[in-house]
Amino acid sequence: MDRVYQYVEANRGRFIDELKDLLRIRSIASIGEEVKRNAEALQAHLERVGMESRIMPSTGNPMVYGERQGADGGPTVMLYGHYDVMPAEDTHLWDSDPFEPTERDGRIYCRGVGDNKAQHFAHIKALEAMQACGVATPHLKFVLEGEEETGSASLPGFVRDHAALLAADLCYAADGPRHESNRPTIYLGCRGVLGLEISLRGAKADVHSGNRGNVVPNTAWRLLDMLRTMRDASGRVLIDGFEDGVAPPGEAERAMIAALPYDGAKLADELGVESLRGMAGPDYNEALMFRPTLTINGLTSGYSGPGNKTIIPARAAVKLDIRLVVDQDPGHMVGLVRSHLDRHGFADAEMEVHDAMKPSRTAADNRYVPIIVEAVRDASGEEPVVWPSLGGSIPQYAFVEGLGTPCIWSAYANWDEANHAPNENVVTDLFLQACKISAGVFDRLRGAG
Ligand SMILES: [Zn+2]
Repeated sequence: MDRVYQYVEANRGRFIDELKDLLRIRSIASIGEEVKRNAEALQAHLERVGMESRIMPSTGNPMVYGERQGADGGPTVMLYGHYDVMPAEDTHLWDSDPFEPTERDGRIYCRGVGDNKAQHFAHIKALEAMQACGVATPHLKFVLEGEEETGSASLPGFVRDHAALLAADLCYAADGPRHESNRPTIYLGCRGVLGLEISLRGAKADVHSGNRGNVVPNTAWRLLDMLRTMRDASGRVLIDGFEDGVAPPGEAERAMIAALPYDGAKLADELGVESLRGMAGPDYNEALMFRPTLTINGLTSGYSGPGNKTIIPARAAVKLDIRLVVDQDPGHMVGLVRSHLDRHGFADAEMEVHDAMKPSRTAADNRYVPIIVEAVRDASGEEPVVWPSLGGSIPQYAFVEGLGTPCIWSAYANWDEANHAPNENVVTDLFLQACKISAGVFDRLRGAG
């Protein structure tokens, strides 16, 4: 592998220039032209590294698919990434043009550089380096989607419809920031998410709080009463069945959690809170990875402008998200919330489901985990942090459920990549290191049967 790593170093400038060309494409999921241009550019890159590739339609933005025969006897590895990016918004908060890649302080700044272009491009450049050095790879299949940032709506159907084409022994993907210690990071799963909006209506319109106070019901108070039935003051969620399907971490997962770096006091200080409910590392990580949450995201009712407006609000609404853990199902959870409302005197509440993504997790004792850990350690020279699950949500279930394929993800971007925020960036050296890590992973998987 030393030759492969040297090839990456020797071609550093060109790899960066090629990445910059991809970054200049404003592939925001809603801008069709640019999305198409990005898909075509990636297809050309895949062809150049010996992949048979094509752009495939989906119910949304096109998928870029590529396949390359590998060494006999090795596993088939699916590589997943996304070429769409978040909008740049608030452009005045950026220190340089969000769509003109700019290098400063050893970093490349541009929308989409960390999330996710430098990360999946590292796989492609790893293939180039291996090909140039005559190092064989396992059988590889690439799926690059163009609507991850808007919820990957087409991906599960696409995977199901092309299950035979996409069949693989393992899905390996690179996305997300590293652990805040900036050690390379591997994660085996994620929580799911369910976004809900619940609204209540009272009088036909807002009414005078003096003329009608004590007589006309106040919808804002009623919304608060409703929320109080859902969770008690200690934080326990009171929706019947809310913890259905929740399994405690197994032995291998507990061992992983115990090894995670954690400094509760420092983290609380960075977040500007007094403490993280006094939690020790294992409790903190178990709460984050193995337990569902019920979160109020926002409340709307009545008047909130300057001064006062003495009204009784006619309407009140709450936006909630529920993070789900394996093996919870968003559809089942919607039913639980609905029947909770009905049973507690809120049958008239209107409930809208905004988004739903299933949780998924690859077992901590999966045979590919130590192989990936070793490859990452080797290429980076650092001990990776391994998370049994992310607290957040990624569309991993599409592969786990649609293909029955275990998934392992690596985070190649620096912990402060500022994805989705102004001044998104990737440390340039980490992009080069990512190319080496991908090559190391492919090399080890080739012999892993
Ligand atoms: Zn993102």
